[in-house]
Amino acid sequence: VGRHPTPQAGPAPVAGVDRILAIGSGKGGVGKSTVSSNLAVALAKAGRRVGLLDADIYGPSQPRMMGVSKRPASPDGKTIIPLQAHGVTMMSIGLMVDPEKAVVWRGPMLMGALQQMLTQVAWGELDVLIIDLPPGTGDVQLTLCQKTHVTGAVIVSTPQDVALLDARKAMDMFKTLNTPLLGLIENMSTFYCPHCGEETQIFGHGGVAHEAERLGVPFLGALPIDLDTRLSGDAGAPVALGDGPVAEAYAALARRFID
Ligand code: ADP
Repeated sequence: VGRHPTPQAGPAPVAGVDRILAIGSGKGGVGKSTVSSNLAVALAKAGRRVGLLDADIYGPSQPRMMGVSKRPASPDGKTIIPLQAHGVTMMSIGLMVDPEKAVVWRGPMLMGALQQMLTQVAWGELDVLIIDLPPGTGDVQLTLCQKTHVTGAVIVSTPQDVALLDARKAMDMFKTLNTPLLGLIENMSTFYCPHCGEETQIFGHGGVAHEAERLGVPFLGALPIDLDTRLSGDAGAPVALGDGPVAEAYAALARRFID
C-alpha cells in the first residue's frame, strides 16, 4: 500500500465534447473573437453541435458579439446552464462578472474560473467546442493545454509584420505544450471599397499564408476587412449568419474543420 506511483494528472477530456479547438492570437485586436464567433455560427449552420467558450478573461467580447447578456442560471448551485445564441451553446466569463468592472485576477483565480467553465458548465453533447483565448501566451493558455485535452490550436493574425511576430510566439507556446497547431487564419486581409470595388491592402496581404508555408502548417483561409463584419459583431449577430461573400468565406473555413 502506498507504493504505487501517483498517476500524473494529464490533459483530461471534457465530458460529451468531441473536439476542442482553441483560437489564439499573438496580440489583441486582430479579430480572434470575431473569427471565433463567426466560425461557431458557420459550424452550427453546417449542422454541427457547437459550443463557444469565451476564455478571454481580460476582455470578454462574446456576450456582445453573440448578443447575449443574461447571467447563466445555476439551479443547483453547482452546474451552470450555458446560454444559447444563433444555434450555438455559449458561455463567457463576461457573463459571470460585472461588465463595468475590470477583472483583476491572479493566476490561481484565473485557473479556477477556466476550470469551472470547462467542468461545471452543462455543455451537453457537442461536436466542437471553440475556445476564444486571451491574446498572447499567459496563464490561461498554459492551464488550458495542461489540464484539458485540446484537439488543436488555430492562430488568427493580420498580415502585418508586427502581428505576425507575436503570432509566432503563440505558435511556439502551443508547440512547447504539445498542442497540435491546426493552422493559421489571415484576418483583415484585404479591403474592397464598397463604392468602387477597388482592392486596398491596408495591413498588407498574404503575410500569413507565407508564414504558414514557411512553418509547414496549413493556411486555413483569409477574411477581408469588412464593414458588415464589424457592424454585425457590434450588433450581436455575426456576419456568418447571413449569405454574403464573407459568410461564404466563413462557411468555407468551417468546412476545414468538418470531416
Ligand atoms: P481580438 O479578439 O483579436 O481582440 P476582435 O475580434 O475583438 O479582436 O476584433 C477587434 C475589432 O475589430 C472589433 O471591433 C471587430 O468588430 C473588428 N474586426 C475584427 N475583424 C474584422 C474584419 N475582418 N473586418 C472589420 N472589422 C473587424
